Amino acid sequence: MPAAGRGERLGANQPKALSPLAGTPLLVHALRAAVRSQTIDVIVVAAPADRIDEVWAMLAGEGASVTVVTGGESRRASVGAALAAMPPEVDVVLVHDAARCLTPPPVFAAVAAAVTAGADAVVPAVPLADTIKRVAGEVVVDTPDRSALRAVQTPQGFRRAVLEQAHAAVADDLTDDAGMVERLGVPVRIVPGHQDAFKITHPLDLLVAEVLLGRRTEAAT
Ligand code: C5P
Repeated sequence: MPAAGRGERLGANQPKALSPLAGTPLLVHALRAAVRSQTIDVIVVAAPADRIDEVWAMLAGEGASVTVVTGGESRRASVGAALAAMPPEVDVVLVHDAARCLTPPPVFAAVAAAVTAGADAVVPAVPLADTIKRVAGEVVVDTPDRSALRAVQTPQGFRRAVLEQAHAAVADDLTDDAGMVERLGVPVRIVPGHQDAFKITHPLDLLVAEVLLGRRTEAAT
């Protein structure tokens, strides 16, 4: 679970994953969803270097087998550090952004099930609401057919050896792990994602997440 980003776009004056949502850090919400999916045995969190002790303390009572490692300068480096700390017996790995903290537990289960069933790499994907333009500077180059495009989310699931190979072979700093696996020529499968798995990036996302969480709490009482 990469959670070492600075969160500059959120403007929270602290690492995004440690920012509160209804009084609880995003990272804790994300970890609880993973645990609730009942498909995860071990969680390795990549945390900001200067917040390691605090992250250990905040996750200690969450009833999961958690390890905290020092994250890197890029998301890719943070995932690499977490991957290196995975126990040797783990052969299916889900990489999940702490910032997608309201991802429903069944999404974890669906991704893990697809890898267990034989896929090397699996991503949750949703159709796009907006039309996407490819641009060069301030000029539109073309308009890809929207029906052939998907927005991809996390958790992204991999056979461990494939993800390790991708991290070893691909030097570019890509924005997701599946992109690195694609570079190896390994097919990446999609499973249905979920609107609630959006990534908290800007202040508006935090407002939406608060409303969503409030509705979930109401529905549960
Ligand atoms: O910046 P972005 O929102 O794409 O980050 C996605 C996830 O990667 C977040 O959970 C963030 O904490 C994590 N990340 C990280 N290490 C970095 C940069 C981002 O663990 N250096």
